[in-house]
Amino acid sequence: MEIGTQPKEFLLAVSGLTVSFDGFKAVNDLSFYLDPDEIRVIIGPNGAGKTTVLDLICGKTKATSGSIEFRGKELTKLTENAIVQAGVGRKFQTPSIYDDLTVFENLEISYPRGRTVFGALTFKRDAAVRERVEEIAEMIFLKDKLETSAELLSHGQKQWLEIGMLLIQDPELLMLDEPVAGMSVSERMKTAELLHTIIKGRSVLVIEHDMKFVEDIAHKVIVLHQGKILSEGSMETVKNDPKVIEVYLGH
Ligand code: ADP
Ligand code: MG
Repeated sequence: MEIGTQPKEFLLAVSGLTVSFDGFKAVNDLSFYLDPDEIRVIIGPNGAGKTTVLDLICGKTKATSGSIEFRGKELTKLTENAIVQAGVGRKFQTPSIYDDLTVFENLEISYPRGRTVFGALTFKRDAAVRERVEEIAEMIFLKDKLETSAELLSHGQKQWLEIGMLLIQDPELLMLDEPVAGMSVSERMKTAELLHTIIKGRSVLVIEHDMKFVEDIAHKVIVLHQGKILSEGSMETVKNDPKVIEVYLGH
């Protein structure tokens, strides 16, 4: 036993994670660890297994073997719902917002029921919800769009709204699959700003292709290739890794 060293507390500890689809290992003996308040980005060629990693963490896909510990709790045994309850929020590639509802209503329906104001009078709850919705709307640059129907938002604004719908549930780990795909340059910059704001009190795991964006936000990067980690470290480290250069130039 080591003396004077404290065991490190990871928010998320993935170890030996493997999933096999008819014998094909889309994720193959993957291990990585996320710190609290960390922004980690997973990059890698198409088909590398990036989305599958998020599917495994959020319980959409069941692992063949390995473990995913979130704040010491084993997630591989939990249902998707229980994983959300445990504090893991996940945004999919295509935004799943309600087009015919306003921005306010979209955020309102995502407000966790029965939490914090449990048992409170209806008007008290309404005030708490409104306050939280406005706070989130401000963060996602949609404060002046609260009464706007979601279908009238730009593609980028829809992506932000979906991030807001996750934020209102206050997850400790937020996972985003290609959040800036299809966004304009200015929207990308604002999204990077948004991620830096929402990091406070939580960790974010992002899949992204846009290298400029990755450089803006990542504390650490994982390069995934054929379901395995090819390289891991700062953007500077992985960019200069000969193995990474080979995989990317080989395409
Ligand atoms: P990425 O997000 O890195 O582009 P994916 O995680 O989507 O890659 O896919 C990795 C590989 O796993 C691909 O070859 C894909 O076809 C396969 N795959 C992903 N999900 C399934 C599934 N549910 N059933 C069978 N094969 C799958
Ligand atoms: Mg993907």
